[in-house]
Amino acid sequence: MTSNVSQNYPYTSETEADRAKLIASLVAARDDLAGKLANETTPLDASERWWVWKCPTKGCAGLLHAAGYAAEKHAVYVVCDGTCGQTFLR
Ligand SMILES: [Zn+2]
Repeated sequence: MTSNVSQNYPYTSETEADRAKLIASLVAARDDLAGKLANETTPLDASERWWVWKCPTKGCAGLLHAAGYAAEKHAVYVVCDGTCGQTFLR
């Protein structure tokens, strides 16, 4: 366990339908996101619910939603729905 484990603790969860809708709208709104996801992630497994995390960026009130698995790491690739627009691994 690392020292920033509290930061990695999930904030809430969402249904697969909500997650898919949210990610689709973020991809539609951000020019670079579809390419990033295509290059850096593999598709998620089928699941009914997904964890949601709070964005760690200072001043950003966004939440992090699962968008895929990180291509080369055992981690979930998440996208912030807030103002920072960043991606993270969880
Ligand atoms: Zn953010």
